[in-house]
Amino acid sequence: MNNQRGKVWKYLLIAFLLLGFVVQSTVVHGAERLVKNVIFLVGDGMGFNQITAARLSQEGSAYSRLHLDTMPYTGLSLNFSQNNLVTDSAAAATALATGFRTDNGRLATLPDGTKVASLMLRAKEQGMRIGIVTTAKVVDATPAAFLVNADLRSLDKQIAADMLQVEPDVLLGGGGDAFGVNPFTREPKKGSLLAQALDEGYTYVYDRDGLLDLEITADLRLIGLFMGGGMSFEVTRFPSEPALTEMTTRALELVAQDDQGFFLLVEGARIDTAGHTNSVDEMIEDLLVFDQAVGLALDFAKEHPGTLVLVTADHETGGFAVTSGTPEGERVNYGWLSTGHTAAMVPIYAFGPGAEQFTGTLQITEIPLRLAQLMGIGNFPAVIPAHE
Ligand SMILES: [Zn+2]
Repeated sequence: MNNQRGKVWKYLLIAFLLLGFVVQSTVVHGAERLVKNVIFLVGDGMGFNQITAARLSQEGSAYSRLHLDTMPYTGLSLNFSQNNLVTDSAAAATALATGFRTDNGRLATLPDGTKVASLMLRAKEQGMRIGIVTTAKVVDATPAAFLVNADLRSLDKQIAADMLQVEPDVLLGGGGDAFGVNPFTREPKKGSLLAQALDEGYTYVYDRDGLLDLEITADLRLIGLFMGGGMSFEVTRFPSEPALTEMTTRALELVAQDDQGFFLLVEGARIDTAGHTNSVDEMIEDLLVFDQAVGLALDFAKEHPGTLVLVTADHETGGFAVTSGTPEGERVNYGWLSTGHTAAMVPIYAFGPGAEQFTGTLQITEIPLRLAQLMGIGNFPAVIPAHE
């Protein structure tokens, strides 16, 4: 009898555990949702030698460890674009955002102009919060491909208008000019895109204090535009500009306000800019602050199960290499091959549920495809029918 009762309890316990499992793994469109939150960090222009130089610089030793180095799963991304071995940020961001290769210069559009769907916007349709943090203009190629479709990456004002149409929960970075910020007062010009956004309920901040002092509430939608164009290098950052880490912290607080999950893009954009001007110190400091943002993302993920942290680069910039030196950081020399991008493959780092999916040598387009599966988002990649 006691034995019987023990069995019943055992079955009840098993049933209870199974029920818990089913409830935990929400089913969306037939696909299991393993990942609730996505923090996607892109180091623009971040090649292997850039990472090597930053690691060496951090503690003056090749033995020091970056936050990146603690991520358990790593892969390689074959990042060439449809019309060029050497991708630009627009085509690479299109691949990462939509799962389609395209020609350089295009944002979430195919070479024939067909618009393609962004995984971030799909996530929003599922009720997830979405946001962008970048040290570039928020309308720059990398963030833009996640939110808008455009034939040309340089159409800043059109991109800004389209970006507000899709109503991201948070946009932090440079690019005030494209939204109609008065460069002297930092306030929105009358009738500007930004003025309209404020009418529609957005909160706007234009400096570091404004961002840090802001009370973040569940219904807050936030635009922070801290420069007219791109933001400064970390080494020459104005006191009025927040660091990438500060923007990341506040954006994470905002998108984590409810239990619906989120997709946050964080771009370290100035690694690329420093590569274009062959500026070693600027490149290293911007990579180190990007790595600190990765550290914040990892801390968040450890406290919030169901969070996947993915880090990759769109391309390498400058043909940069560490050419000599000791592991203790003495007599270190660097060289640059160009002031443009190169065709070098780039790293992928992953932490969290499904992280093991991002190993091996992947086509760049595989990254969002695997991500979509983990997020339980079906019908992806997808073209957008012409009438939409
Ligand atoms: Zn570039």
